[in-house]
Amino acid sequence: MPNESAAVSGAMLRQHLIDPEICIRCNTCEETCPRGAVTHDARNYVVDPGQCEGCNDCLAPCPTGAIDNWRSVPRERPYTLAEQLAWNALPAHGVQGAAGDAALPPDIAALAAEATAGQGGAAPPPWSAAHPYINLYTPDRPALATVSGNLGLTAADASADVRHIVLDFGATAFPVLEGQTIGILPPGTDADGRPHHPRLYSVASPRDGERPRYNNLALTVKRVTEDHDGRTLRGVASNYLCDLAKGDTVRVVGPYGASFLMPNHPGSSLLMVCTGTGSAPMRAMTERRRRRRAQGEGGRLMLFFGARAPAELPYFGPLSKLPADFIDVNLAFSRDPARPRQYVQDLIRARGAEVMRMLDDPDAYVYVCGLKAMEGGVDAAFADVCRQHGADWASLAATLRAGGRYHVETY
Ligand code: NAP
Repeated sequence: MPNESAAVSGAMLRQHLIDPEICIRCNTCEETCPRGAVTHDARNYVVDPGQCEGCNDCLAPCPTGAIDNWRSVPRERPYTLAEQLAWNALPAHGVQGAAGDAALPPDIAALAAEATAGQGGAAPPPWSAAHPYINLYTPDRPALATVSGNLGLTAADASADVRHIVLDFGATAFPVLEGQTIGILPPGTDADGRPHHPRLYSVASPRDGERPRYNNLALTVKRVTEDHDGRTLRGVASNYLCDLAKGDTVRVVGPYGASFLMPNHPGSSLLMVCTGTGSAPMRAMTERRRRRRAQGEGGRLMLFFGARAPAELPYFGPLSKLPADFIDVNLAFSRDPARPRQYVQDLIRARGAEVMRMLDDPDAYVYVCGLKAMEGGVDAAFADVCRQHGADWASLAATLRAGGRYHVETY
């Protein structure tokens, strides 16, 4: 499968590094290198990214294999000589590899684990998903993005302020896939005087940018003014983001996520279930498919989307305009005086026959994103649908998960 993140991978560099934990400082590499790219101080042997041409002449003579180490890094921000000379160990892999999410910083790994806890951890990605870049930017080396748009998505009199925020990365490589998250570093410090930890947001735009072929992405952010129990709470990152003005600079880490990714193969279908701002990855995937439609890509799209009222449903206007032969949209409103209270799980039951067809389709992939509280209701709805159609949800869910066809991300 072609990996379209390769569209920006020219901006990535496979940087040659030496493992300081294994290196015996024998000087063989420095003697061998025809470019004079290897140098050393009293502590480490290092490779100058400005000199190394990747000829690999140094690999075979190295007695330990310390020389044979590589990391994917943004081309304009390779590890400098000063950084390498200070290392006691190599940095974790910046892209998904054998280590996968294990390479994530502990606080991010804990958040990712929380998001997928309901299904027993992250499922494998769809077999045809593009290869994601992971953890390219860290709190000590964040990417700087400029706000190029901050648009209110909810009506002025709505009880929630949900915003569509566009971040432009300029000349900085920040490749993302639909379903991935990024971390925002709010300025300032927490109550203990420590820098704020990153807050995760799903990317709401497709891989080729909020504006196609621009190096930008969008987030869907709800201003947090109370906690899950209704107590007053001023969300640090959400308020920071919602108050940003065009031209402001934001520190961004990530990207993260190697599991909740969309399939790339033609004819694959998506069954999407979300509440509130959990719609962000669904917008990214839907928009990806909308842009690719002319090329004949994609099977069925079915969306179950829950919000309090139409005025609080992010992207309500654009969603309502999508043709029915492109996406089957099912909206559930829980606090709309004009209609009875409905949740996404009610609509899943109401559309049981079609939902069952998709669960049975080996090319259909299921995504659930939003409030943690929705997990139980959605799970019970799928179980009911299966029961009504002579299937067993517990075993089907296990099969879907193992095959990378069932993905949950809830907070
Ligand atoms: P919200 O406005 O509070 O709720 C959206 C809808 O979900 C409402 O209709 C609500 O009904 C309903 N709901 C509440 N409990 C439910 C349940 N047990 N089962 C089914 N539906 C239920 O949602 P929100 O504040 O936007 O929250 C979205 C969640 O998505 C947050 O937890 C956020 O962390 C998470 N998320 C956000 C992103 C992002 O990029 N921003 C990405 C991934 C996940 P009621 O009227 O009864 O409340």
